[in-house]
Amino acid sequence: MSGRQGRSFLACLNCKSEFDCGPYLSGCPACSTDRDRHVLEVRYDLETLRATRVMAEWEKRPFGLWSYRELLPLPPEIEPVTLFEGGTPLIRVETNGPGRIWIKDETRNPTQAHKDRFHSVSVSMAKHLGFTKVTAATTGNHGTSLAAYAAKASQRSLIFHDPRSPRVLRDLCQLFGASVVVTEARLALLAWMVQERSWYPSTGLTPGPIATPYGIEGYKSIAIETALQLGGRVPTRFYVPVAQGDILYGIWKGFRELAQISPGMPASTKMYAVQSTGCAPIVQAFKDGLNRIPLHPHPNTVALSIGDATGAAVTLSALRDSQGGACEVPDAEILRAVRTLARIGVAAEPSAAAALAAALRSQEDGAFDADEDIVCLVTGAAVKWPETIALSYEPHCLQENDTKALMAWIRSIDSE
Ligand SMILES: *Cc1c(COP(=O)(O)O)cnc(C)c1O
Ligand SMILES: [Zn+2]
Repeated sequence: MSGRQGRSFLACLNCKSEFDCGPYLSGCPACSTDRDRHVLEVRYDLETLRATRVMAEWEKRPFGLWSYRELLPLPPEIEPVTLFEGGTPLIRVETNGPGRIWIKDETRNPTQAHKDRFHSVSVSMAKHLGFTKVTAATTGNHGTSLAAYAAKASQRSLIFHDPRSPRVLRDLCQLFGASVVVTEARLALLAWMVQERSWYPSTGLTPGPIATPYGIEGYKSIAIETALQLGGRVPTRFYVPVAQGDILYGIWKGFRELAQISPGMPASTKMYAVQSTGCAPIVQAFKDGLNRIPLHPHPNTVALSIGDATGAAVTLSALRDSQGGACEVPDAEILRAVRTLARIGVAAEPSAAAALAAALRSQEDGAFDADEDIVCLVTGAAVKWPETIALSYEPHCLQENDTKALMAWIRSIDSE
């Protein structure tokens, strides 16, 4: 460690080998085989950060992701690629049951999803490592966010879309200058672009066979911001809608590192993964006590952004290490939570409302004490998923030119 004082580096979660931060795109080179790849993640000189009381410093800085760059892998002298992501509000949701329920509103990010925290760090590292071409596979939000950051970094981007991704997100990718391929074969093509054509994969942590350790570091800022917003306390529970689960692992890594650098702050936040009953492979694997996540044979949910057929094993370790849990909620309950959010002025896509749906149900079941802070991550905005909006409201719209009928309708509203 001493040779790395003050610098970030990579460590293998399996064999513990350490490496300088570099272009490791398929897991640990020391212990991985083609069949079995192991995760590299970024480590920091936390002792020095603890000694310098960096948290007190952060309180004075503007609210946003790059204010916490002591815990990000980009060397301090390098300009980040940023669209001013992060710094999102923590909003109280009034409920009747015990515990204070909050939402962390990630719809306020530049491309209206938490993924912007990921790609700001990931594309910054891609550029720093000398790449000029970036690629990813997506159900929509992930790729759109990458396209925006690639544009900002003047990088070429190629995005492989799931055939179920909405038209508006394919359009947005192209507006940002990306090339778009819509195909079922997206993961194999992504691997080929990376291994044979040297494109940088802006992907998550799980080697499968392609992975990068950097993007998820951006998610830690959600933990740091939340602790600052709660006045230096960490929440008791954190509910997160998960697909692969990089987001959940990233937030948990943030709480862990916060506890290591802040005297007196425990890493006591219980993490909860939330999925739809129509596709819940992580929830199932957690309940079955597995270490790997089996493939769901036929995902079927309106919450497409959390409808991945499988997920990252590190998500399971975050749930266990934090003594949290995993919940599945039916689509109908997710759509009801979209309505609950709309009533406080927040327009979420279905996937983004799943965490609140699960927390509200747990509250009803009596799982919370009165003095708890429960945070639900609202991951992405409704506007990008236009086909799903109408599923969450009672139509109340009249198109009419006949004055008599028009006035009758308006009067009925007026006299409500
Ligand atoms: C990608 C996404 C998720 C899940 O994130 P993972 O890190 O893949 O688990 C949740 N909600 C929305 C809206 C997303 O776009
Ligand atoms: Zn290893």
